[in-house]
Amino acid sequence: MIKELMFQSPGYLGDFIKPRIITEQVLEDQGIEFDDLSLWYGDGSSALQQKVKLFKELSARWEMRVPDPTFFSRFWETGDINKIFRLWMDEDTSLERSIYLHIPFCLEKRCSYCMYHSQVMQSPGQLETYTNELVHWMEIFSPSFAGKPFHTVYVGGGTPSLLNKRQIERIFKAIETNYQNSVKGEHTFEASPVTINQKKLRILRQLGVNRISIGIQSLDRKVLLRESRTYVGARRINEIHQWVRAAGFEDFNIDLMIGLSGDDGSAVRRSLIIGIELGVPSITIYIRRSTQLTAAGSREYLNAGRLYTLIGELNRLAAEGGYRNLVDNPLYECQHYVRSDFTPVLPEYRTQYSPLHRNSCLGIGTGAQSFILDRYYYEIRSSAETGTPLYVVGVTSQKDRIRAFVAGTLYRYGYVELNEFKRQHGQDLTVIFSREIRELEQLGLASLDGNHLTLAEQKVAERDIAVKFFYRPSSLFDTLFSKLTMN
Ligand code: SF4
Repeated sequence: MIKELMFQSPGYLGDFIKPRIITEQVLEDQGIEFDDLSLWYGDGSSALQQKVKLFKELSARWEMRVPDPTFFSRFWETGDINKIFRLWMDEDTSLERSIYLHIPFCLEKRCSYCMYHSQVMQSPGQLETYTNELVHWMEIFSPSFAGKPFHTVYVGGGTPSLLNKRQIERIFKAIETNYQNSVKGEHTFEASPVTINQKKLRILRQLGVNRISIGIQSLDRKVLLRESRTYVGARRINEIHQWVRAAGFEDFNIDLMIGLSGDDGSAVRRSLIIGIELGVPSITIYIRRSTQLTAAGSREYLNAGRLYTLIGELNRLAAEGGYRNLVDNPLYECQHYVRSDFTPVLPEYRTQYSPLHRNSCLGIGTGAQSFILDRYYYEIRSSAETGTPLYVVGVTSQKDRIRAFVAGTLYRYGYVELNEFKRQHGQDLTVIFSREIRELEQLGLASLDGNHLTLAEQKVAERDIAVKFFYRPSSLFDTLFSKLTMN
């Protein structure tokens, strides 16, 4: 379908031999900047429908939530990346900083909805090698962050609970030795209900972890099996909950998901009720990303207002069960329920950039992303196991930061506050993006209302399509071209 769309567009876009270079050259010859490709879309409803089709196709195939950094470079030496970190840190004015450690291994198979960087563990030796790598990276990058306090630590995956007791100890000791870390902050460890045990929980608590988050997704056997995910029942969750309490944790979160294959809403409703009956302190319900929604054929179900109605029902069930919703926004990308007598350290995670929190994150591990506010970006693309690590560095221009603010905030919160945009960027969003807003309104995907640009309740499952209207056209085309030429 994409190829069809491309061939319907002006001829130079249909050329797949060095497409970006050719496209830029042709445009340059005509005195048009590559970033002005919105010209291509033309006016009128058929051009608009074509644009929606293209964005739908991109969303269904590739995870592209916020515009890519404007400029990329690659480095192979940790010394290079350290020099860059030091330069960045000189300019760092973050209000909050996090450390994210990624454990990219899973037990025996991959869940079909997975969007994380992970692979099935081949042997326990892999974890030992990887632990050595993590400790090495922490030591190498440590001097660049001297004097910069971190507020949260998050160990995610993959499946961090595959690590044994000794590996867990080594990793947390390395954080303590190498980084200035607030003991009062939130320290999360993600675990799988299959691989966590009492011994690991006790050691995690002793090492300062104060939040355990378990990915369950559903307590419905049939739904999980359809997603190739191992099922555990309420009894196992209850057992873990007792261990967590005995180890001294206050915060114990279970993750559930809306939009799993074959779930018309009843499985997520039942799972929430079980979580409430077990009295777990915190229950987070994510909306499955649209990339996987389409694959599961659930997008159409969740559109037509059903998603919005379902979230209303979940809110009601949670309130009746004595839980508060910290999110209080049905358009948000997840709902977070906590028992009324419990207050978590943080209401939401900090491993993505949030324009409202002005945060930064040091990501350590294969596939882990680091960012310094919305300006700089860095990722480790491979580990010592697969060869020399490759460090990818990106810098985002002021123009693209504006796009990222709108796309990121609209995706995550379901709305953008016009005053906040003006406060941070000194410009009027409705002027800069008048065309995009007009098109979204025309399509019924979003509307302007007083101080807000808000996604339409009925179309909230289409948020990934709506936000692409704010992407730099060339970043969409670059992705499209690179994927097509790779295939
Ligand atoms: S356990 Fe988590 S990281 Fe592993 S495959 Fe499933 S969703 Fe992906």
